Amino acid sequence: MSDKITGLIHHPYTPPEGFAAPQPGVFKASTVFFPNVAAMRSREWKDKTGYTYGLHGTPTSYVLEERLATLEGGVQCLLVPSGLAAIATVALSLLKSGDEVLLPDNAYGPNKALANGELKDWGITHQFYDPMDPQDLARRISPRTKLVWLEAAGSVTLEFPDLREQLRVCRAAGVLCALDNTWGAGLAFHPFDLANEGAGGQGVDISIHALTKYPSGGGDVLMGSIITRDPALHIRLKLTHMRLGLGVGMNDVEAVLRALPSIALRYREHDRTARVLAHWCLSRPEFAQVLHPALPGSPGHAHWRALCGAGEGREEREGLAAGLFSVILHARYSEAQVDAFCDALRLFKLGYSWGGPISLVVPYELAGMRQGWPAHLARGTLVRFSTGLEAVEDLQADLAQALQVLN
Ligand SMILES: *Cc1c(COP(=O)(O)O)cnc(C)c1O
Repeated sequence: MSDKITGLIHHPYTPPEGFAAPQPGVFKASTVFFPNVAAMRSREWKDKTGYTYGLHGTPTSYVLEERLATLEGGVQCLLVPSGLAAIATVALSLLKSGDEVLLPDNAYGPNKALANGELKDWGITHQFYDPMDPQDLARRISPRTKLVWLEAAGSVTLEFPDLREQLRVCRAAGVLCALDNTWGAGLAFHPFDLANEGAGGQGVDISIHALTKYPSGGGDVLMGSIITRDPALHIRLKLTHMRLGLGVGMNDVEAVLRALPSIALRYREHDRTARVLAHWCLSRPEFAQVLHPALPGSPGHAHWRALCGAGEGREEREGLAAGLFSVILHARYSEAQVDAFCDALRLFKLGYSWGGPISLVVPYELAGMRQGWPAHLARGTLVRFSTGLEAVEDLQADLAQALQVLN
C-alpha cells in the first residue's frame, strides 16, 4: 500500500491470540467483517454462533448476557438501554391491539405510565390488580389477558406479594408472566425457580432487571436486561428488539462487567444497612409506619420470609433484601415539613434510582400513585430511602439530625 493513511487503516498487524485477563476486552463495532460473501450470507444473527452487526452483539456484550442469565437462573438474555426499555420491549413484543395487560397497583411508576400512554393509544387495555390479593389477580384475568407483570417487592411501598401464588394463578390461566426483578437482583430469590426445587421448578417466563441499579452499582450507567428460559419466547423478544433497533454501548457493558463480581457483597451490605436503619426508624415517634419486607409488621413480611428468608441451603439465616425502606410520616406533618426533613439530610442525597454507593432519598405523594389508599398503609407522606455503602452509624446520625426540623 503506497498511501500511508490507507496503510494504517488496513494495517496488517494483528495482536497474538490467547490474551487472558480478569476482564474481557471491550469490543466495539457497528460494522463486523466477513471473510467472504458466503459467510456474510450464511451467518446467523439470532444466536451466538458468530457476529453480524454491532446491534446484535460483540464478544463483550455476549459475555455480559451469559453472566446475567446465570445470575438470574435463566438461559437467554437481551440487553437494552435502560430498565424501562426492558419493560417497554416486553410489552411491545407480546401485546397487540385488543389484548390486555395486568399490572400490580404498586408497579414501577413508568410501567403504569406506558400502559396508560402508548399501549392505551394502540388499543391495548390494562388493569391494575391488588398485589396483596392473588384472588383479585385471578378475577381480572380474561381471554384477552396476554401478559401479567409481577413485582417483588413493590416499588416505593415495598409490599411483598405471594409470588408463588400469583405465578400459580397465571399458570392456571395460561398467561405469560413477566417479573420486574430489579429489587431481588437475582440474589434475594430465584425468579425462574420460585419453588426452589432446582432446574425445572416453577418460575416466571420473563425477568427484566434494571442493571442501572445493583449490577452497575455506580449510579453512572443506564442499562436493562430481559432474561428468559424458553428459546421460542426469547426469539420472539429478540425479533422485536432487533426491529426496534435497541443496542447498548460497550463501555457501559464493560462498566457492568466490572461491577458484577462484587454484586453479592454490595447487595448484602446495602441490605444490612437498610435493616439497621429501618429498625431504628420503628422506634421514632415521627413515623406512622416503616416499610421494609424483613420487618415483621411490614405488608407481605410472611411472603418475603417464605421466599427470601431463612431456608435450607441459605448461607444467611436472615435471608436477603435490597437496600430500600420507606417511612410514612404522621399525617400531622405538612408537606412542607416533610420537604424540610428531606432537605435537611446531608449524606442522603435527593435523587432518583438506587444501587450506587451514595444513599438517596425521595418523598412521594402516594395519593396520585395508587387506585385508592391501600388499607395496609398508614395515612401521611411517604419518604423512600435507598442505602448506599456509607457507615450505618453516620447514616443514622444523619436521619436523627434531619428529624430535628420536625420538632
Ligand atoms: C429503576 C427501575 C426501573 C427502570 O430502570 P431504568 O434503568 O432507570 O430505566 C424499572 N423497575 C424498577 C423496579 C426500578 O427500580
